[in-house]
Amino acid sequence: MRLVFLGPPGVGKGTQAEGLALQLEILHISTGAILRDALGRGTTTGLEAKKFMDAGDLVPDAVVLKLVEDRFAEQDAASGWLLDGYPRNLEQGAALDGLLSILQLTLDHVVFFECDSAELVRRLGGRRVCRKCGNTFHIEFAPPPPQGHCSQGGECEIYQRSDDSEDAILKRLDVYQRETGPLVEHFRSQGRLIVVDGGQSIDQVGVDLRGALGLPT
Ligand code: AMP
Repeated sequence: MRLVFLGPPGVGKGTQAEGLALQLEILHISTGAILRDALGRGTTTGLEAKKFMDAGDLVPDAVVLKLVEDRFAEQDAASGWLLDGYPRNLEQGAALDGLLSILQLTLDHVVFFECDSAELVRRLGGRRVCRKCGNTFHIEFAPPPPQGHCSQGGECEIYQRSDDSEDAILKRLDVYQRETGPLVEHFRSQGRLIVVDGGQSIDQVGVDLRGALGLPT
């Protein structure tokens, strides 16, 4: 199975992608997570991406395409993957088409999670992440553990992503409308878009997602 997840920042793509990839036993490829990891390790790519990410801008297409190409080339990508956060504009969509045609692969589904902006701002502004294990919390709906221990038991370091600051959130939503909006319409006009209401609870979005893909819940 090869899938693409599209949707605005904060819609819950990453959470749904993680669960579905596990269920389907395919690779979850999040370009945002790869970039944050590169940044954390201080690699050239990470340092190059930092200023774009901090400002809520898109990292240059060529940089992200290379990350995806490299990830596809690894052995664990052979049984399928779920792309979360890529492609994000029409140019990346065309680049992905080109890459898939070289690899003689096709996409099975493109899923679009929709949600209104007020809810996205509420979700992103309250989001907190554990730097060590990647767990995501929300100060209102799923507060981080007070003692700094995640459910996985280890010592945690809860932080707010720099691109979850108020200014960066508004910028990211604006970038999403301008850059990703046309890509969504492109897939919609091709009749390839599966639309899921991302404004619901995590569990309900999961149920709708699996229903739309014809999978067991
Ligand atoms: P995300 O975790 O998907 O919200 O991505 C966090 C940030 O990483 C974005 O705001 C961008 O700066 C960068 N990023 C992730 N994926 C892409 C992409 N496909 N193209 C350009 N920049 C990206």
